[in-house]
Amino acid sequence: MGNDEFIFLDDDNNAPLPCEQNTQHGTLSPWRILIVDDDIDVHEITELALYDLTFLGRPATLLHAYSAHEAAHILASETDIAIILLDVVMETSDAGLKLVGHIRQNMGLRNVRIILRTGQPGLAPEMDAITKYDIDDYKTKTELTRNKLFTSITTALRSFERMQKLDANRAGLEKIIASSNEFLSRRGLRNFAEGVITQLSGLMDVQPEGLVCAIGGGEHLDLLDHQQPSRTDQIQIIAAAGRYSDMIGLDLEELHSNDIVTALRDCMAQKKTLILPGCIVLYLYVREGYALAAYIGAPEPINSLDQHLLSVFCGNLTLCAENIQLVEKLKRRAYVDELTNLANRTAILDAMSSVLNDPNPQPNSLILIDLQLFAEINDVLGHSYGDRLLCAVGKRLSTVLPDCIVGRIAADLFAVIGRSEMLTQISMSAIFTAPFNIEHFELPIRVAAGSTELTPDGQKTALDCMKQAYIALKRAKSSGFGQVTKYDPQLAEITRNRAKRLGDLQMAIERNQLEAHYQPLIDFKTGKPCGMEALLRWRREDGNLVPPCDFIPLAEYSGLIRPIGDWVMREAMDMIGKVHAAGFTDMRVSINVSKVQMVADDFIEKLERQLNQSTIAPQFVEIEITESACDLGINDLETLLGRIRALGVSIAIDDFGTGFSSLSYLDRLPVDKLKIDRCFITPLDIENDGSRIAELIIPLGHRLGMKVVAEGIETEKQAQKLRDMSCDIAQGFLYGRPMPEADIMVWLQNFAPLATSGANS
Ligand code: C2E
Ligand code: MG
Ligand code: MG
Repeated sequence: MGNDEFIFLDDDNNAPLPCEQNTQHGTLSPWRILIVDDDIDVHEITELALYDLTFLGRPATLLHAYSAHEAAHILASETDIAIILLDVVMETSDAGLKLVGHIRQNMGLRNVRIILRTGQPGLAPEMDAITKYDIDDYKTKTELTRNKLFTSITTALRSFERMQKLDANRAGLEKIIASSNEFLSRRGLRNFAEGVITQLSGLMDVQPEGLVCAIGGGEHLDLLDHQQPSRTDQIQIIAAAGRYSDMIGLDLEELHSNDIVTALRDCMAQKKTLILPGCIVLYLYVREGYALAAYIGAPEPINSLDQHLLSVFCGNLTLCAENIQLVEKLKRRAYVDELTNLANRTAILDAMSSVLNDPNPQPNSLILIDLQLFAEINDVLGHSYGDRLLCAVGKRLSTVLPDCIVGRIAADLFAVIGRSEMLTQISMSAIFTAPFNIEHFELPIRVAAGSTELTPDGQKTALDCMKQAYIALKRAKSSGFGQVTKYDPQLAEITRNRAKRLGDLQMAIERNQLEAHYQPLIDFKTGKPCGMEALLRWRREDGNLVPPCDFIPLAEYSGLIRPIGDWVMREAMDMIGKVHAAGFTDMRVSINVSKVQMVADDFIEKLERQLNQSTIAPQFVEIEITESACDLGINDLETLLGRIRALGVSIAIDDFGTGFSSLSYLDRLPVDKLKIDRCFITPLDIENDGSRIAELIIPLGHRLGMKVVAEGIETEKQAQKLRDMSCDIAQGFLYGRPMPEADIMVWLQNFAPLATSGANS
């Protein structure tokens, strides 16, 4: 147990104990001896013989009964009778023996010692009666000289005293065992300290009146137990009972009893249990720098038996304190975020539940705060930097929001619970204006924050409120930073709708309601179809087609775009196989691939597998990516496109000109085509202006060795202008709309080039 051991006063067995000195002054009660005899002379003689008897410092007093009946009566009303000197023959020849049976069996008195006396040697009881009734001695009256009586009595007293001690010991141990069970259910040091007073008083058989002080402190053992002193030299009252009850929380010095203050201070200073006249002060080491001292008033002097029990109690208490610390530690683990020492998710949910179940609710709010780009910071500056940043953010939040509960509920997600009137005032950008200085590196941080009110309505749970704050946070991420976005029930409606549409889309996949339509691409030079773009459609049960812009973002958001994209790829490759089989052997198929699909680890693998299963060569397959793919970073994107190219598949950049596209990117990336977005084609109809962008993009593409495709050509005028600009490929309603599989086949068969184009196929 090492340092945890209780130091019991009785370390030095030879040192006189204060209470023992007390016992020397004759304050202990006398031994009580009951004489039962129908012969008055016997009473008198016995009294004479024993008048100066003392044993273990205690004198004897005699009680008298003149019949077995009277004796039974006295025994029923008196306690602590140590010895009965009992005549055998009284009312009847076996009245004495019968009384013995009554004492042991009916009255259950096991400890009282019995010495039988008889005048007639012939009437001696049987041996088995002596053993059966636990009779100490059997003497004829003539045998009982003063000396012999003395010897018999002292032997019996010794035996009685041992039995009493054993009984008291047993009772004390039972109390100690019961107290251990009681301590097991105690939570927190303060609660434990209260238990010490109750249990210790029980053991000492005194009213639960006393107090427990604590010294030391430092870090908190228990999040919710703020009763620990903060200064190392301060002794604070952490539990109290009886007339000291209202002293909890005070400094020991504030107590108006010099004796108690001195006793407790001495105990803390000497680090050991003290047994003093009128009280005991128990010393309990909790952990390094932290100890408790329990003061209990004990009006009766504490005898050596009690001292023995006390030392057992102390030992037991140490174990209980260890258990409590263990429980505290586990509780800490369960409720405290190890990295930041803030409340964790469970603790925050608990705190929210308390607010929601408060019978006198105050307007409270929950704010969730998400650090932007934390993953990137972690990657670039290392995890230990990231950890320190999280701690610094937690610290800043706790400092600027002192009356709130601040917690970390996920990697870079913080939660704050506090009064609404205060939280609605705060500005995240103000809190996070100052950069974080970590490892001599000033790092500015941006956050998104969403909040919800914690208003009890009898139905809303902590989890419901957490969900609401998440919805608001999501909204915050897509809208403005710096502000706290409040949860709005309409947001929930949008989320619910989205969830429903997601369910519908999932069902559409299962029920094969998705279709690939194909829109032709025309080579400007030959005027002939040179390819087709696969465009996804969702045919609802009522036959209506849902355009991709209505469900692709949802599919991307949910990840469903991956299985959908796989299907489109398979479908498109099958289709181009059929087109080739029908004789249009120079046709390519273009497949739109979103960023979400491309970042999947197995994207290349899947593409390769599809190509292998297809009947056509890879050069007839083209992947269209949008500029959003640039988010992957130039290096990753270059590698990825390189691998696609290596499979023999060509690459087009779709909707070119709409997103942010760095020209230096364009130079490095292995791209075959640029598709000018429709928004630059439509203005070509305008007489003078509107053609500037297209005019720029086409030569740019050519300079970079790419072909240029114009999307969304609807008029002959647009086509003519583009042809004049040397645009390579045309796509648009002017030539053909996206069509189902069967229709595009017919369209191809019937294709007649427009007047300005070359020959038919
Ligand atoms: P996109 O790849 O730029 O496809 C061209 C869009 O322009 C198609 O719209 C097409 O119908 C439309 N279009 C073509 N010519 C004209 C025209 O002359 N006038 C007008 N007003 N529109 C024209 P759609 O089919 O609604 O597709 C919209 C977008 O959805 C596509 O734009 C593409 O980004 C995405 N998408 C379609 N299918 C898939 C797919 O299988 N996978 C992925 N990831 N995205 C797809
Ligand atoms: Mg496209
Ligand atoms: Mg496009």
